[in-house]
Amino acid sequence: MTDVAIVGGGPAGLTAALFAAKNGLDATVLDTDGTWMHKAHLFNYPGIGSQDGSVFLETLRDQVDAFGADRQQGVEATAVTETDDGFRVDTDDEAVEASYLVLATGAKRTLAEELGCAFDGDVVDVDVTMETSVEGAYATGAMVRAEEWQAVISAGDGAAAALNVLSKEKGEHYHDFDVPADADEVFGAMADE
Ligand SMILES: Cc1cc2nc3c(=O)[nH]c(=O)nc-3n(C[C@H](O)[C@H](O)[C@H](O)COP(=O)(O)OP(=O)(O)OC[C@H]3O[C@@H](n4cnc5c(N)ncnc54)[C@H](O)[C@@H]3O)c2cc1C
Repeated sequence: MTDVAIVGGGPAGLTAALFAAKNGLDATVLDTDGTWMHKAHLFNYPGIGSQDGSVFLETLRDQVDAFGADRQQGVEATAVTETDDGFRVDTDDEAVEASYLVLATGAKRTLAEELGCAFDGDVVDVDVTMETSVEGAYATGAMVRAEEWQAVISAGDGAAAALNVLSKEKGEHYHDFDVPADADEVFGAMADE
């Protein structure tokens, strides 16, 4: 049993994993590595001047791993269902049981459809926290949008989903704020000059 099961390891899924794991939740990511990032070159991701999409992805994967998420590459989610305690994600091997589910499968919407999530036309219907009509199940990235298919938007969706899960778990609105002293504690005080 994990806290958050995340299906898809592109910018949306990995960002959800990053925020969840960084803030103390167990997060499991299942990913088949078909992310569009392998075809992209980023000039429009804020804070990144110019970077190959696969290089960006490798950095993000390292970041997620460093915070302790369980990232399972090459594992396909074949079905998702509701259980008494949350959700079960089936694979060809072991199933993953989780309290919350984040779908981050790019433009693929089949799992959301099978789970019974409401749709708005062709896209999965979500609120501003990316929660679907199925409580505790979130949908992110291209599956919730007819356009606006950009890495930074997917990453924002994943962050919103994870922060909403964290707010539910902690019983109050949760903000993932760090300050320079936090970095000093981890890396040692760094002089700017
Ligand atoms: C040619 C091209 C150029 C682009 N250029 C830019 C650009 O310059 N700037 C920009 O911001 N964006 C660009 N994009 C778009 C960008 O790549 C996407 O917006 C971004 O990758 C979407 O992220 P995501 O996490 O929503 O989905 P994805 O990155 O598509 O990730 C979805 C992941 O889910 C996995 N998955 C799917 N189903 C399952 C399943 N059942 N089980 C397990 N895993 C599953 C897939 O294999 C994939 O790894 C470009 C896209 C293309 C195609």
